[in-house]
Amino acid sequence: MKREKTHPTLPGLSKNALTVLEKRYLRRGPNGTTLETAADMFRRVADTIAAADRSFDETADTAGLGDTFYRMMTSFEFLPNSPTLMNAGRELGQLSACFVLPVGDSMEEIFDAVKYTALIHKSGGGTGFSFSRLRPANDMVSSTTGISSGPLSFMRVFDVATETIKQGGTRRGANMAILRVDHPDIVDFIMCKADQKQLNNFNISVGLTEKFMQAVERDEEYTLVNPRNGKQHGTLNARKVFQRIVKQAWENGEPGIVFLDRLNRDNPTPQVGEIESTNPCGEQPLLPYESCNLGSINLGKFVAEGAIDWNRLKETVRNAVHFLDNVIEANSYPLQQIHDMTHGNRKIGLGVMGWADMLILLGIPYSSPEAVKLGTKVMKFINDEGRLASRELGKVRGSFPNFTGSTFDIKDAEPMRNATVTTIAPTGTISIIANASSGVEPLFAVSYLRTVMDKNVLVEVNPHFERIAKERGFYSESLMKRIAEHGTVQGIPEVPQDVQEMFVTAHDISPNDHIQMQAAFQLHTDNAVSKTVNFPNSATIEDVENVYRLAYQTGCKGVTIYRDGSRDEQVLSTAKKD
Ligand code: UDP
Repeated sequence: MKREKTHPTLPGLSKNALTVLEKRYLRRGPNGTTLETAADMFRRVADTIAAADRSFDETADTAGLGDTFYRMMTSFEFLPNSPTLMNAGRELGQLSACFVLPVGDSMEEIFDAVKYTALIHKSGGGTGFSFSRLRPANDMVSSTTGISSGPLSFMRVFDVATETIKQGGTRRGANMAILRVDHPDIVDFIMCKADQKQLNNFNISVGLTEKFMQAVERDEEYTLVNPRNGKQHGTLNARKVFQRIVKQAWENGEPGIVFLDRLNRDNPTPQVGEIESTNPCGEQPLLPYESCNLGSINLGKFVAEGAIDWNRLKETVRNAVHFLDNVIEANSYPLQQIHDMTHGNRKIGLGVMGWADMLILLGIPYSSPEAVKLGTKVMKFINDEGRLASRELGKVRGSFPNFTGSTFDIKDAEPMRNATVTTIAPTGTISIIANASSGVEPLFAVSYLRTVMDKNVLVEVNPHFERIAKERGFYSESLMKRIAEHGTVQGIPEVPQDVQEMFVTAHDISPNDHIQMQAAFQLHTDNAVSKTVNFPNSATIEDVENVYRLAYQTGCKGVTIYRDGSRDEQVLSTAKKD
């Protein structure tokens, strides 16, 4: 079969994308010179992932499939998560972004988890933990007749370890810590990032239960439980604890919340274990020792002549599921337990980026009921087609090994290759590579100022906005600069009203609109949706409380908020970063 030519430079690769790739993704020689072009990188990834077909059929001709994958990535219609781009076909070979590790209530188990974290961070993955199994601070330690130091003190050990490792020199360490709301140390946990110098390698979320939420509604006490012996350890007023969470989130964005019962209601393999944590940005609930690889379809590429090209989207979903299932085969896992758990469930997380781009190309304002309706429709389509593709793979390759006893194991069940198929990732870096809006977020800015070499200030303009401004004759460099300084196009008289409506940014839309969009995508996503709900600095504590409640009422699995200017620096957010 004729091979698609690899181009030294790729058409459509933006300058920002090239900078990111050169900095972290391209192979380098011992003296630091890059040994591959962006096109070579995509070829390396495409061929490595396609070659995994041979694990199922030794005679498979994988060259054609390699070309399909190469085209899918170089057209920026689909990109896998960063570790796959960085490591496929290279020595490290670790391809997943998401891991969850168990933290048991003994020194051995805690420090094993620290070591495993180091191995995962070195390879570019992020780790999530529940610290809920650790006995509370000042509890009994029988072996030393001393007292325990509690989950928070051990979190600091993970934090320092992460700081020291700095993910493989490529990505900085990212951790998620979850503590159940009925853990005796919950109030200290809620406050643990109040000092902005603390725990900067962690995102934190409180694990809420339905029982707790009911107690909040009824303004009742709820019981704290010591995980060491399962015994009651006092009670707290649920509403007061909820308000403490909300106030702290209003202060500086954390803690977020996750609804543990919902994560477990959608746990496809309850017979294997309970879900107690997610990955660092919250979109991927996993069992202890489980990992997941993500990939995202760039929706902005699927609008042709003002309409969605559903056929091409369907084909891309199918190829993407094939790609992500192959990643599980091609992956080198940092631990045997992770290999086994990941192969047992074969979870993949196909999601989207470029949602705001798609809406702009279709002429639908992000904060409109029409956009929310379309979000549900698009994600249902991807989820349905993705599952069909997984079933088809299942017929040829077999179901995921833990299928028996799983929620898929019903009368006359068809095979299913992957225990989960869809996840909406932040796409923080891959959206820069694809020159797309990130995840399902609204635009972050219409135009912004970029400082180059500390002095030259360049004005970067959203490409859709620039095109429309030129077509409609209101483009001027001075206007673009003014918009960048103003931070939004809302209220700028030179920008026509309908264009203002189309180009809303994360700060222009209401928190309610953010949640409605998150809920719309969550409805047809197996795993969870990464989304930040932005608040203006002037938002009140009640505004935040309303959004936390709304997230619960609309079926979200968790929520992350950020009030403008409330932290000196955000750790790892959905905002664009390189
Ligand atoms: N992640 C990480 N370190 C980072 C960025 C991301 O460990 O610096 C992990 C984390 O688990 C996050 C997931 O990768 O939830 C996906 O993040 P994102 O979609 O932003 O990654 P990308 O593939 O765009 O680099």
